Amino acid sequence: MKPYSPDEFSKTLWTAEQIQQRVRELSEQIRADYAEMEGEDAIVAVGLMRGAMPFMADLGRYMDIAMEYDLCWLSSYVNSDRPGEIELVQDVRTELEGRHVLVVEDIVDTGHTLKFTNELFGSRNPASLRTCCLLDKKPRREVEVPVEYVGFTMEEDEFVIGYGLDYAGRYRNLPYIGVLHPRMYQK
Ligand code: 5GP
Repeated sequence: MKPYSPDEFSKTLWTAEQIQQRVRELSEQIRADYAEMEGEDAIVAVGLMRGAMPFMADLGRYMDIAMEYDLCWLSSYVNSDRPGEIELVQDVRTELEGRHVLVVEDIVDTGHTLKFTNELFGSRNPASLRTCCLLDKKPRREVEVPVEYVGFTMEEDEFVIGYGLDYAGRYRNLPYIGVLHPRMYQK
């Protein structure tokens, strides 16, 4: 099996060290905010598959308050006649009523995915519902959604890979985030 080659990427946006530093800061901010909330309960972190995997794992590792993990699998109809429509492929298994729910997402792009999760989980009467995204790709937003915690804001509309983000299933395991070289799409 061949290793990734540096010429598959046109540039690195955030190194592994920068990501870990920012995730640690986010964890501290979340910890401080939730420490003031009512109840002795654990946070229910709901990771949106599959991109949120490394981010949610690291976020929890830096936190010393109780956190449960659950997963939700969604699918969007890209390049179809139903733009912006999201399908629920696999729901969470945790009963969310009365719980403090933190949705963890890799990147907010058009905003349709988070609009969907806000409506879905919001309808279950959680004690609180917040969202934490590693990346916010602002130029592409189509629907406004509240995102309480953001790792990095992107001002350019670029397709990024690494640290959970894929292209055709690859690159999720990279510890840094970069821009895929356009020639990789043209293959
Ligand atoms: P939204 O519903 O906000 O348009 O899309 C969110 C999803 O689109 C993300 O969870 C991610 O799977 C995908 N996505 C959006 N932008 C990028 C990107 O630059 N790179 C990758 N790998 N996925 C992206």
